[in-house]
Amino acid sequence: MGRLSTLFAPDRVAVVGASDEPGSVGRAVTGHLVEDFRGEVLAVNPNRETVLELVCHDSLSALPSPGDVDVAVVLVPPELAVEAVREAGEVGIGNVVVVTAGFSEAGSEGAARERELAAAAEEFDLNLVGPNSLGVMSTPSGLNATFAPTSPDPGSISFMSQSGAFVTAVLDWAAERHLGFKDVVSLGNKAVLDESDFVREWGEDPETDVVLGYLEDVADGRRFVEVASEVTRETPVVVVKSGRTEAGATAAASHTGAMAGSDRAYGAGLDAAGVVRVDTVEELFDAAAVLSGQPLPDRSAVAIVTNAGGPGVMTTDAVGDTDLGLASLTDGTRETLREDLPGGANIHNPVDIIGDAPVERFERALDTVLADPNVGMAVVLACPTATLSFDDLAAAAVDLQAEHGVPMAAVLMGGASTRSAAATLSEAGVPSYFDPARAVDSLETLAEYAETRERETVEPATFDVDRERARAVLERARDRDTTRLGVEAMDLLDAYGIPTPAGAVVDDPAEAVAVAEEVGGEVVLKVVSPDILHKSDIGGVEVGVPVGEVRDVYETLVARARRYQPDATVLGVQVQELLDVSAGTETIVGINRDPQFGPLVLFGLGGVFVEVFEDTAVRLAPVAEREARAMTEGIEAAPLLRGARGRDPVDLDGLVEVIGRLSQLATDFPAVQELDINPVVATAEGATAVDLRLTLDLEAL
Ligand code: ADP
Ligand code: MG
Repeated sequence: MGRLSTLFAPDRVAVVGASDEPGSVGRAVTGHLVEDFRGEVLAVNPNRETVLELVCHDSLSALPSPGDVDVAVVLVPPELAVEAVREAGEVGIGNVVVVTAGFSEAGSEGAARERELAAAAEEFDLNLVGPNSLGVMSTPSGLNATFAPTSPDPGSISFMSQSGAFVTAVLDWAAERHLGFKDVVSLGNKAVLDESDFVREWGEDPETDVVLGYLEDVADGRRFVEVASEVTRETPVVVVKSGRTEAGATAAASHTGAMAGSDRAYGAGLDAAGVVRVDTVEELFDAAAVLSGQPLPDRSAVAIVTNAGGPGVMTTDAVGDTDLGLASLTDGTRETLREDLPGGANIHNPVDIIGDAPVERFERALDTVLADPNVGMAVVLACPTATLSFDDLAAAAVDLQAEHGVPMAAVLMGGASTRSAAATLSEAGVPSYFDPARAVDSLETLAEYAETRERETVEPATFDVDRERARAVLERARDRDTTRLGVEAMDLLDAYGIPTPAGAVVDDPAEAVAVAEEVGGEVVLKVVSPDILHKSDIGGVEVGVPVGEVRDVYETLVARARRYQPDATVLGVQVQELLDVSAGTETIVGINRDPQFGPLVLFGLGGVFVEVFEDTAVRLAPVAEREARAMTEGIEAAPLLRGARGRDPVDLDGLVEVIGRLSQLATDFPAVQELDINPVVATAEGATAVDLRLTLDLEAL
């Protein structure tokens, strides 16, 4: 597929289904093109002589030199739309925008028609947008091939949306916030072109500074990650993904499956791609405003300059809620502030120039603070006073921001009196808000993106493992005609170099005693059955069993299994070395597979309450060592691992290695659908897997 530049910057556009019927889509699209487009518009409609003073042609092939048309916009009913797309291909038109609805969103007949569209696009190598798309816009050429009522202001944001209705809502709203756009595309059903294609295109487009997306799904997760992780090195990509609360994880057969559901997969995918993910539409445009208007910070320390003490504290709290910190001002800065400011002022950050400050005082203080090398970003915060004009302050802030190049966000705490000042600021790219938290959050977005750009890609290490032995363990499931394996498959972990306790699975009490004697000391006994998901729930685990009791406990465990789950296949009992769990932390390491993003690795706080706390980190596999370490540092319970309250810190290196080795298993064996090691007992001595459960797709083995 060629580059999409002629889609957004065409010289000639043909409208198939042009119309002047008031209120029709054809009228709206044709009207927008006739009014705004700086190129040539051609009308196709066999039933009319003219439409809006354009001569109508019977078909695309009846146009004068149809091969010179850059974009065909297709509005005719579905059956005719497929024909029009084929015709566009035949006459050599490279881009088609199918606005027509009635395809895969409308049942199986529509889905079949959509496949025909995709096949035609494939045959003629067409860039096809839609179907069921609102259309495309591009401000430099005045292209508005949509039926949206609002045309965007020109700017440097390019925006793709999976919802057409949302495009119209956003453009209307953005106009009020002085946000300008370069290109806009309504993705529609994404039969051919999808989010990855547009991210790639805009990554190469010098006129696009920020890419925004409203997505309901990602067509090909791995491709998106590949494309977007390149683009985000230069151009920020911000995505709001709807459907976060989808209850798709309920059918999962493992902890990891339940916790690494589709939303976590998206999170992991967007993260790996360096995409800024936001939760709300408001955050999407806050991010867009700051990323398109402000430079990136060279440090994440924030300075606050305010004429109001209380709101200054609120802003300080807001900084505390983020990963940003307050800048500590240099001695020189504080000295200058002391000289310039009246007695009651605070010359430490947050700098409070007090309520009677005229704009000159604000300006001087801000100038001093922005020149401080410790200051990475600034919040200018003002409440209405008799001595300060918001308009003057806005003008001064804009100038000083430009002069110092320090990223800035403004908080104007007021209503109607702030309006024109806010406009001055946002026209100059300085975002302004009523709420300090939003200003701080937008600075955090900048800092996060700055970090994303600097990130290095590290190839995950390859561990020395015994793949054939691992395969043999998995093959046992086939022999037993099951897709589930439990602790009887602990050899799998051993084959991948993941530490496991001494012990064995046995199927009679005498052998259990023999193994217990060999292991030494008190042992752990567990019932072994692929059908019992949570052994301890049915009393199937006994911890700290002396050798003398092994025989009895063996019988008890089997009896319990028979009582609570009479239809379960009991393979025997596992006798395991007893680990000192109290000296460490139970963690979980797991694998899950997402239909869009492929293998995922999960790490978190483990044990029997794992789904209660849901304290986990999820990444796309394979996971490089640095990422694995970040996972161990990223959970809420990280302080436990580091040794909180006098406990010994656990062997983090060991844990990181377990994550890395399991991640390799995830990529080596696509047949492993879900896998939990819960717990991996992490102590000062090491990280040891004591339990295992996995689900296989035998056909993929
Ligand atoms: P299940 O998760 O099916 O209930 P586990 O094998 O995970 O079974 O055992 C349940 C709990 O028993 C673990 O979370 C852990 O607290 C404890 N446990 C299991 N194996 C050992 C062991 N070898 N040493 C110490 N404690 C263990
Ligand atoms: Mg367990």
